[in-house]
Amino acid sequence: MQPSETTVQIVEVGPRDGLQNERVRIGTPNKLRFVAALVEAGLRRIEVTSFVHPRAIPQLSDADELMALLEKRPDVRYSALVPNERGLERAIAAGIREIAVFTAASDTFVHHNIHASLPESLAHFEQIVKQAKDLGIGVRGYISTVFGCPYEGKITAEQGLGVASALLAMGCDEISIGDTIGVATPGDVARWLDAARTAKIPFDRMALHFHDTRGMALANVVIGLQHGVRIFDSTAGGLGGCPYAPGASGNLATEDLVYALHGLGYQTGVDLDKLVTASSLIANQLDHLLPSRYYQAARVQACLPV
Ligand code: MG
Repeated sequence: MQPSETTVQIVEVGPRDGLQNERVRIGTPNKLRFVAALVEAGLRRIEVTSFVHPRAIPQLSDADELMALLEKRPDVRYSALVPNERGLERAIAAGIREIAVFTAASDTFVHHNIHASLPESLAHFEQIVKQAKDLGIGVRGYISTVFGCPYEGKITAEQGLGVASALLAMGCDEISIGDTIGVATPGDVARWLDAARTAKIPFDRMALHFHDTRGMALANVVIGLQHGVRIFDSTAGGLGGCPYAPGASGNLATEDLVYALHGLGYQTGVDLDKLVTASSLIANQLDHLLPSRYYQAARVQACLPV
């Protein structure tokens, strides 16, 4: 669904951001069933994989095969992360219509993750964005650590806004503002969005990507809604690790997000029962319970194993 005053667009990032952070390896046929069930549940934007080097993230090493086997539908936007030129080549060969590039608000975080400075990472992605746009491929730009960095601690609004402006200027169609370590409070989000408004960041081209590590994700979503944001990222079931496990990301669960949005009167196009069914396809293969509270409640009510 297109975002509007009363319609929220959900970008389901479970198959990529979720599975990337799971210890248990999910086979390609099961991933295909999972993505098909997410589509069946009404999700229309799904980040399905990452064209990173297969050894970098073994969980996503089947990106080419997965993309080839996905059922393509004109009303479903599949996207994939692209870290470099080789990744872009593979994504193009796979017939991708939308890619995502990624950097961070914190220079130290960028350095630790891609062994480059923040300006170097922006220059690197500028080439990739240009090539993709020339081929008519949509581009989303992720900005990690906007509200806090595991190495630098507090991050100023100006740091994130500078990166947001740079990504938009180089041609990204949309930016996704990430609270990578789940430290943002509703107050932090409100102040950041006020600063973003002043900096003239177009809110219709901005998604918010919250992690529920400290239980703030949904409260932060509500602040986003109040400020006019209508695009949010989440993972089915809260896939991507239990927030209590070391190193786990604690992604906001799509079920919890959809339940809150519907309760607030927003349309999402998502059928919650079918979404629970989609999550259950992955849940029984994991080594932990899915953290989504809605998912757990729905399974308990149906007397099914969570
Ligand atoms: Mg995430």
